[in-house]
Amino acid sequence: MKDFFQGRRPLRLDALDLPITWGFCVLAPHPDDFDALGVTLRHFANRGHDIRLLVLSSSANGVEDSFCDPPTPEAKAALREEEQKASCRFFGLPEDRFEFLRLPVAEPGGFLVDGAEGYSVLKVRLGRLSADIALLPHGRDSNPDHRLAYTWWGRLAAELPRPRTAWLARDPKTIDMRDDAFLPFDDAAARWKAELLRFHMSQHRRNLATRGYGFDERILRVNRENARRLGIPEPFAESFEIEVRPAPRPFARPTDVTRSGAFLGWTKKLRSRRPG
Ligand SMILES: [Zn+2]
Repeated sequence: MKDFFQGRRPLRLDALDLPITWGFCVLAPHPDDFDALGVTLRHFANRGHDIRLLVLSSSANGVEDSFCDPPTPEAKAALREEEQKASCRFFGLPEDRFEFLRLPVAEPGGFLVDGAEGYSVLKVRLGRLSADIALLPHGRDSNPDHRLAYTWWGRLAAELPRPRTAWLARDPKTIDMRDDAFLPFDDAAARWKAELLRFHMSQHRRNLATRGYGFDERILRVNRENARRLGIPEPFAESFEIEVRPAPRPFARPTDVTRSGAFLGWTKKLRSRRPG
């Protein structure tokens, strides 16, 4: 199969001619993680690709008490889901293309539980979608849910036939990553993205109150900084590290696969044991 991701780095995603049958699935630890990649997703949606969204946690802890009455975890989670639904309507993502998985979270903090229950739900749902490319926040991140989503992606790639490729997105909380690929955009697209992001009003108000600027500006600052670092003429870019995982092998131990070469080392060992 042709490797679309080989060659010069960083790669312009708007110059990629991916087969139209390739589907995308966003593994969003939180409701707003889809929107942070909005311009890239819109580009591929406009080309006719199937776009799916699995929201792992409804992230009630991201809502301030003053924004929700009653300020219970259930009401806050429902509010965040409503915000995401409104944003998906604005984006043009049909209701049957996204799902709130409501995976178990632990208090205090309300972060996802790294356990078999949540993981197996995610595995079943992703397995049904037969997506080719997973999009999720990069794993080197100060947010525990972003780190866990990345860890789970590694396990999923070892246990499911697809997707084999992940585009790991730079987020305000990303600690460091490679800029393997980017989707540049102009001021008009930035205005559209700002409107998309502001559907997450609970996050927008919280950012305004605690940072003095909105959720839209929080994300667009990252996109502006991406463009500056990449040295491109466009004022904004969404940036990704690309990770392609080897196909699962019949006897591979599922949790043993890392891109550090453990898998390759292990398969080499296996091959060397084989006669002839
Ligand atoms: Zn997030």
